[in-house]
Amino acid sequence: MLIVPEALIAGLVTPADAFAAVEAAFAAMARGDAHNFPVVREALGEGRQYGFKSGIDRAGGVLGVKAGGYFPGNMARGMINHQSSVFLFDPETGAPVAMVGGNLLTALRTAAASAISIDRLARRDVRVLGMVGAGHQAAFQLRAAARVRDFDRVVAWNLHPDMLPGLGRVAEELGLAFEAVSLENLGAQADVIVTITSSPAASLLDRHVRPGTHLACMGTDTKGKQEVEPALLARAAVFTDEVAQSMTIGEAQHAVALGLLAESAITPIGQVLTGAHPGRISADQITLFDGTGVGLQDLAVAARAVDLAVARGLATTVEV
Ligand code: NAD
Repeated sequence: MLIVPEALIAGLVTPADAFAAVEAAFAAMARGDAHNFPVVREALGEGRQYGFKSGIDRAGGVLGVKAGGYFPGNMARGMINHQSSVFLFDPETGAPVAMVGGNLLTALRTAAASAISIDRLARRDVRVLGMVGAGHQAAFQLRAAARVRDFDRVVAWNLHPDMLPGLGRVAEELGLAFEAVSLENLGAQADVIVTITSSPAASLLDRHVRPGTHLACMGTDTKGKQEVEPALLARAAVFTDEVAQSMTIGEAQHAVALGLLAESAITPIGQVLTGAHPGRISADQITLFDGTGVGLQDLAVAARAVDLAVARGLATTVEV
C-alpha cells in the first residue's frame, strides 16, 4: 500500500492536473462508467461534522472513499478546520492501494469543478469575474477561474469585509484589478460569478444578476446552506455535478422544495463534456452550475496524486 501524505500534495498536483482529473470523472459519470455511493454525514457535537464520500469509476479503475470533516476547534490548535484523507482500493479485489492526504486536494478538486463549468458554460467574451466569498476556498476558486478565461477585473463581496484584502492579493498576483463592491454592483458588472460561502441564507438575489451571466455556486454542500435566491435557479439553465446531490444538499435544494425547479431541468455537467447536451445555447442565457462536491472528484485527484508520487519516487510503500 502506498502513502502520499498531505505535505507532498502541493508539490505534486497542479490546478491543471486537478482540472483534467475532475473532467474525466464527470464525463465517466455521464457515460454511466462511474457512480457515487450515498454520502454519510454525521454531527459529532460541538459543531464538529464527520462524513464519507465514496464511489467507483470503472473506466478510471478507481474505487475509494474520502473520510473527512469539519472541526471548528482546530484553528486554536494551529490546524485547519477541514480535515480529510482519501483511501483508494483495487476495484477488482478490494485490496487497499493508497492513503492520500485530502485537504489541499479538496480545494483543488472544488476549484477544478467550478473552472470546468466556466470553461464549458460561460460566454467566450467574459471580462469581469465576481467573487461572493473570501474564505479559504475563494483563493483557489479565483486562481482556477483565471486559468480558463481571460478576465481583466475581479469585483468581490463578502459578509466579513476584513477578509477581502486577502483575496485582493491573489487577484494582484494574477495581474487582475480588484474592487470590493456591493452585491448590486457585483451583479451589474460581473460576467461570471463564483459563490463560495458557508451562508445559511441567500445573499445574491435574482434581481442582482444580468442576462448572459454564468454562475458557479460552490458553497452549498449541505442541507440548510444557501447562497442565491431560488428564483435565480428558476430563471437559469441549471447544471450540476450530480443531480441527486444537487436536489438534496446543493444550491438547488431550495428551488426544488419550493416547486420552482424540476429534477428534469437539472443537467449533469458530464453531459456537456461528452457532447450529449449543448450547454449554453444563447449569449443572454443565464447558466448556473450547482457544485455540490462528489466523492468521484476526490478519488480522481487522489489517484492522480498517487501516479505523480510514484513517477517521482515520492510515495512511501508499507506492507499490508
Ligand atoms: P471559510 O470558513 O474559510 O469561509 C467561509 C466564507 O463564508 C467566508 O467568505 C465568510 O465570510 C462567508 N460567510 C460565513 N457566514 C456567512 C453568512 N452568514 N452569509 C454570507 N457569507 C458568510 O470556508 P471555505 O473553506 O472557504 O468554504 C466555503 C464553503 O464552501 C463552505 O460552505 C464549505 O462547506 C463549502 N465547500 C464546498 C465544496 C464543494 O465541493 N461544493 C468543497 C469545499 C468546501
